[in-house]
Amino acid sequence: MSDDVLSVIPADPHWQPEHPAAERAVALVTALTGGLGADTDVEIDVDWYDDPTVVDSAQNLERVGCPSCRATIDRAWWEDLVEAHEDGFPTLDVTVPCCGAATTLDRLDYDGPCGFARFEITVWNPETDALSEEQLASVAQALGHPVRQIRAHL
Ligand SMILES: [Zn+2]
Repeated sequence: MSDDVLSVIPADPHWQPEHPAAERAVALVTALTGGLGADTDVEIDVDWYDDPTVVDSAQNLERVGCPSCRATIDRAWWEDLVEAHEDGFPTLDVTVPCCGAATTLDRLDYDGPCGFARFEITVWNPETDALSEEQLASVAQALGHPVRQIRAHL
């Protein structure tokens, strides 16, 4: 049994919404992903994190690239880092192993996209593959901040 997961997160990894805005955004994401149907497998989780937490695309992550030298970053380095910070990253500052450049984790080149967030709306088994640009814009308006979507396969 595998799951498709669609996460919607603020574009800024440090940003958190006020609760009324969060509730509006959750209601909208629920409606847009089929979660209002009577007979649906869609499940919505809403999480608030103290520190930016990785929103991993899991099996959809094929490559992590360096934004500085463009090399492919060692997968074990990335996985160890994520495993050591399941409760969040006190800082996103990082020195990459390929060329020693100082950058931040949210600037690495993830294929497929990963993100970092202190607020996350997670949709399990959404009835849509992805939200459209227009739908994301309406969620951003409800939340009061630009949003990104991360699609994972577990
Ligand atoms: Zn590099």
